[in-house]
Amino acid sequence: MRAFSFFRRASRLFDENRSLSKLLVVFTVSSGGLLVYSESNSYNGMTNADQPQIDTKKKRVVVLGTGWAGTSFLKNLDTTLYDVNIISPRNYFAFTPLLPSVTCGTVEARSVVEPIRNIIGKRKGDSTFWEAKCVKIDAKGKKVHCLSDQDVNSELKEFTVDYDYLVIALGAQVNTFNTPGVVENCHFLKEVEDAQKIRRSVIDCFERASLPTLSEDGKVKTLHFVIVGGGPTGVEFAAQLHDFVSEDLVKVYPDVKDLVKITLLEAGDHILNMFDKRITAFAEEKFHRDGIDVKTGSMVFEVNDEAISIKDRSSGAVSSIPYGMIVWSTGIGTRPVIMDFMHQISQTNRRVLATDEWLRVDGCDNVYAIGDCATINQRKVMEDIMEIFNKADADKSGTLTVKEFQHVIDDVCERYPQVELYLKNKRLKSIVDLLKDSKGNRERESIELDIEEFKNSLSEVDSQMKSLPATAQVAAQQGLYLARCFNRMKEAEENPEGPLRFRGMGRHRFHPFRYKHLGQFAPLGGEQTAAQLPGDWVSIGHSSQWLWYSVYASKQVSWRTRVLVISDWIRRFVFGRDSSRI
Ligand code: FAD
Repeated sequence: MRAFSFFRRASRLFDENRSLSKLLVVFTVSSGGLLVYSESNSYNGMTNADQPQIDTKKKRVVVLGTGWAGTSFLKNLDTTLYDVNIISPRNYFAFTPLLPSVTCGTVEARSVVEPIRNIIGKRKGDSTFWEAKCVKIDAKGKKVHCLSDQDVNSELKEFTVDYDYLVIALGAQVNTFNTPGVVENCHFLKEVEDAQKIRRSVIDCFERASLPTLSEDGKVKTLHFVIVGGGPTGVEFAAQLHDFVSEDLVKVYPDVKDLVKITLLEAGDHILNMFDKRITAFAEEKFHRDGIDVKTGSMVFEVNDEAISIKDRSSGAVSSIPYGMIVWSTGIGTRPVIMDFMHQISQTNRRVLATDEWLRVDGCDNVYAIGDCATINQRKVMEDIMEIFNKADADKSGTLTVKEFQHVIDDVCERYPQVELYLKNKRLKSIVDLLKDSKGNRERESIELDIEEFKNSLSEVDSQMKSLPATAQVAAQQGLYLARCFNRMKEAEENPEGPLRFRGMGRHRFHPFRYKHLGQFAPLGGEQTAAQLPGDWVSIGHSSQWLWYSVYASKQVSWRTRVLVISDWIRRFVFGRDSSRI
């Protein structure tokens, strides 16, 4: 037992001093290695962390971010194949769909997070985590520059990490649309800390309103909760807050309970406008019944420490609403480090990083981007129409028969998913129907198309291209997909498994990424949820709430968080939510 613990301590010591041991090897084994070391040290006086410098023959994969995309990648990557370094200012994964529940104590903050070291610790192989921010990506030098927030000397805070493959999973930041006063006066709901702050702030408002010194007007103002943004997060927070107040706080603050007001401001014509119309209508009606004041068509143009100023979109009328607390939830913007990187690689005038369908960042080698920080630049059929025609025209006759085209149909549909979408929307059974349609002859099997007719038949398919939503579902599926590609890198090099290369020879190494939509929820409070499932199947009410509970319990990243979340739900059912301000 003692011997075992000695080995464990010794190996931990070795792990902790990897940089030292590697440096020694670098000094003694190769002067080339030394050169690499001194080079990476030279940037801006940065010091180098214990990054792997020796060629262990394993490629170095650097993962930026421990959110949905990064964690999904790490959970599925075969870490025995690579030397993996993970960099994030957050040493945990957060289950963001439950953050609105954290704001009101329906679940506790610690129940929705899992330490990243627990996650990577369960994997075989070499993975190292450094709690730091990436401040610059240097694609030419194949390195990332990092800055730690730890309380150490300034020269120890900065370091660089070299990579062979870089996976950027940095997510996004809140978007204030540069509205004056928002950063200074509003709460955001993006991180776990934000949710904790909101929870404290709600209780603060109630305690302040209960003071004997406050006037009636002051109490009304203090208990006015304003939510800006009628998307899923804003709506769920409004619903959670309403439940918290009506089920729990009315009992502990009986004197001020009648003064509480919740207002939801939305610039568009409806809340939840990305959902089915039936869900939008139900949500607006339910909020009306619950006394939540939904003001649609309201643009916020300024916030100060007393009031929020709005302009009515249709009448142009301007008004100022006093508030006690504001939660700003109007969508996402680009992180500065991503902006800087986009400038470097000439992806200017974009909101997020563009990748191809294999999630490789356009314009640089061996750099991948997944999750909210990226979008797939789907290739248009029309860009490759000549090449598709030439590849399909096997006998080089200059015309294409249906039979000839059938040989490449699967590859076309895989390479250009918009084709399938177009067929689905047009209710056409197959691409052959599309060709027949364009020829205006449904009877003859032996249709022949020249290039102009072929172009004509596919001319509208690109209109179906849609970018993917910035959701956890997309991020997690991209992480999983990319990890599977990394795991099969060698095999796929020898036996490419993707579709035909229309602009080149052979096949693509991998199948392109395909998103599978599994549906989405909008919890509306009072144990009622709206669910929009694949096939535009809509379900609203208490039964969907149970579906929500089961899906979110099953999607937890570990058994520990699953047990914690379920026990929080049971605790809330039995004892209600806690109103202590801690
Ligand atoms: P994130 O999960 O945001 O992760 C980004 C990671 O990068 C973090 O670890 C962060 O610390 C790290 N990072 C940031 N800056 C740096 C830096 N400079 N250097 C290194 N690392 C850095 N989606 C759904 O599908 N369903 C839902 O119900 C849902 N509910 C949501 C509720 C809320 C309140 C919020 C905020 C989001 C919700 N989403 C939901 C959206 C979902 O959370 C995001 O789409 C998802 O988190 C995107 O994953 P990501 O990995 O790209 O980014």
